[in-house]
Amino acid sequence: MTNHTIALIAGDGIGPEVTVAVQQVLEAAGAPLSWDEHPAGLAALERDLDVLPESTVEAILHHGLALKGPCTTPVGEGFSSVNVQLRKQLELYAAVRPVRSLPGVDTRFEDVDLVIIRENTEGLYSGVENEVTPGVVMSMKVASERGCRRIAHWAFRYATQRRRKKITVFHKANIMKLTDGLFIRMAAEEHEREYPNIEYQEAIIDAGCMRLVQDPSQFDVLLLENLYGDVVSDLCAGLVGGLGVVPGANIGESHAVFEAVHGSAPDIAGQGVANPLALLMSAVMMLNYIADTRGDKECRRCAERIRDAYDQALKDGQKTRDLGGELDTNTFAAAVIERL
Ligand code: ATP
Repeated sequence: MTNHTIALIAGDGIGPEVTVAVQQVLEAAGAPLSWDEHPAGLAALERDLDVLPESTVEAILHHGLALKGPCTTPVGEGFSSVNVQLRKQLELYAAVRPVRSLPGVDTRFEDVDLVIIRENTEGLYSGVENEVTPGVVMSMKVASERGCRRIAHWAFRYATQRRRKKITVFHKANIMKLTDGLFIRMAAEEHEREYPNIEYQEAIIDAGCMRLVQDPSQFDVLLLENLYGDVVSDLCAGLVGGLGVVPGANIGESHAVFEAVHGSAPDIAGQGVANPLALLMSAVMMLNYIADTRGDKECRRCAERIRDAYDQALKDGQKTRDLGGELDTNTFAAAVIERL
């Protein structure tokens, strides 16, 4: 059986707590994985390393895959975001975040089934900011034809492979005519050129958000530039039970980093109460990705086993506090392991 070595970044805040819980579930499920752990974020600074050490990036380049907990970047000058740096350095241009209703988790809507695809390297997160004159600062929104076209192409290909029916681009091209204008123009061109069988829609983001919270079933795959994707991911998390249940993958041409949508949650860090499910679901995405890209059927079987086990745990009312239950991080992991 092939063993896949994964670069592991436990991260900050609740990161190490949820990472250990996820590793326990993966091990109990017999996932053919081994770990090569590296620091980033505050954990790296505490060891007198850069916020994103070169050795951490090299490990991901070497293994091709990483599982990552949330990293904190100190606020203020001198530090650029670990997540933004990592996505840019490795050209992980596509963030994919499936948002689906879970059994046993009561929310306003049933049967939510959305996929968010976020452009991960451009937009306002290009990090180009400067002081024009004292008292006036500026942040640059960058969109390139190459960047907009490649994410549009990726999204349509993803939708086709997953038998999705429709892509909606959220934008504000009525105001940002050049940048968002380019984003929707590239998406429309990709649709017309190669993917006419997928329905294509555009929605101005403010109206789109209103429609999302009124009736998410109107949407299928959402395609957004960087900042909009960040904000709308949390909004969509709210439709299905919160940040504890939304996983994610950051994917490039030859590397992928799997991480939950949530941050380091400093308000609950160190208490052992965080929900490890979002990172566990990200690990399941990673197993499926390995099955797709390396043809390892055992990874697919493990992914299915783990998904069935956490679905069953939730159905049985085994939930962490964020979902209205009473379990802590480790007892939830144990409940999943019991059902493998
Ligand atoms: P970032 O800017 O890195 O996204 P943030 O502080 O804005 O970080 P989060 O760290 O994601 O956002 O936390 C937002 C809220 O969601 C907090 O109240 C946090 O406790 C809660 N939360 C996030 N992740 C989890 C989790 N896995 N389990 C339980 N609660 C969580």
